[in-house]
Amino acid sequence: MTTDATPTSPLDDALRFDVVDLVGRTGTHRSVERTVPAPAREAGGLAMQVAEGDDIAVEIELESVVEGIYVHGTVTAELEGECSRCLDPVEQDVSPRVDELFLYPEKVKAAEREDSVLLEDDEVRLGTLVRDALAMEADERPLCREDCPGLCAQCGFRMEDDPEHHHEVIDERFAALKGLFDDGSKDDDPQDGKA
Ligand SMILES: [Zn+2]
Ligand SMILES: [Zn+2]
Repeated sequence: MTTDATPTSPLDDALRFDVVDLVGRTGTHRSVERTVPAPAREAGGLAMQVAEGDDIAVEIELESVVEGIYVHGTVTAELEGECSRCLDPVEQDVSPRVDELFLYPEKVKAAEREDSVLLEDDEVRLGTLVRDALAMEADERPLCREDCPGLCAQCGFRMEDDPEHHHEVIDERFAALKGLFDDGSKDDDPQDGKA
């Protein structure tokens, strides 16, 4: 039976590691490094993602343990996006830790398989792990800087270019209210405010 729970990402193919030399040899371990190009950005995905073709560097230790192959290490990449206020480009260097135990299928009860990460074909596949680790680091509302003044709400002008930028607000309700106050406070006003 196959499950459609995890869509395969292009990273899955790029980040497969053959561990046949470690399988069943508890206590042995090996470090690996691999740098792969980021796949295309996901449309409508996270605000901060690795730009297509940019490096995603993976440095991990593969350890053979009784239950399977334990993988731990670091992913290093630069996320890119736009400032959520002024739309300027924003970069974010991240290097999240990754940590996963790929279980030998024969050690996992059938009922628990769907919830387990299994070692398949003597390979560890780190695509999903790496993708999730980067996503966890991604700023949801990136800013070019903490106090970014953003864009003018009325015309889209970059406030950074002229902090004095503003529009003369002509609000009819406000003007009417102002008229009322003028009438009320100035008894010597010859007009009585009736239109
Ligand atoms: Zn900004
Ligand atoms: Zn404006």
